[in-house]
Amino acid sequence: MVDSQIRARGVSDSRVLAAMEKIPRHIFVDAGLTEQAYNDSPLPIDERQTISQPYIVALMTEALRLKGKEKVLEIGTGSGYQTAILAELAASVFSIERIASLAGKARRTLDYLNYYNVAIRVGDGTYGWREESPFDAIIVAAGAPDIPRILVEQLDVGGRLVLPVGNRSTQELIRITRLSDDVNDVKKEQLGGCRFVNLIGEYGWES
Ligand code: SAM
Repeated sequence: MVDSQIRARGVSDSRVLAAMEKIPRHIFVDAGLTEQAYNDSPLPIDERQTISQPYIVALMTEALRLKGKEKVLEIGTGSGYQTAILAELAASVFSIERIASLAGKARRTLDYLNYYNVAIRVGDGTYGWREESPFDAIIVAAGAPDIPRILVEQLDVGGRLVLPVGNRSTQELIRITRLSDDVNDVKKEQLGGCRFVNLIGEYGWES
């Protein structure tokens, strides 16, 4: 998976590649999907949600530019697969999932794999996690109609926010880098097209 689908498509951060090689993606999907777990595609998980495509997980993670000491916020825990990658690459991960059953299952999987630097909360992640801010990096694993300003406010200066922004069916991956104390002082970069499930919440789409 890593050689043919991720390295071959241009992801070069050696720490990201090592984390993707280490983490067993099949543990995060139902037993009936084990044989497809290393295909380069999203797969269904419970509650009509998906585990993200490995290449997109790698691309978004690389875009966060993690070196190992960061505090990271993830919105959309899903299966916990992306969470595990982040837990390998950063000091601490705070992850929010709106569907309680998915958050519970992800917690059990991450405990099974001994990722204890992860806190998971159930709720609307479009509000962020103010008490734990500022974050060095924020990743949103669901498609948003706009860039939630409240998330930019929770970025540290120099921090990166990576998220899909677009309509309900297709989006563009965007990286926002906060440049100063002024929340409007940001650098915005486009990283390519993608298709995510909807970000549902106050600063996302209506359910
Ligand atoms: N990266 C995850 C993985 O590897 O399994 C997949 C995430 S899945 C594509 C998107 C997730 O975002 C879903 O589990 C969905 O319930 C969740 N979600 C959508 N809107 C949310 C919100 N406002 N707050 C928290 N989670 C949300």
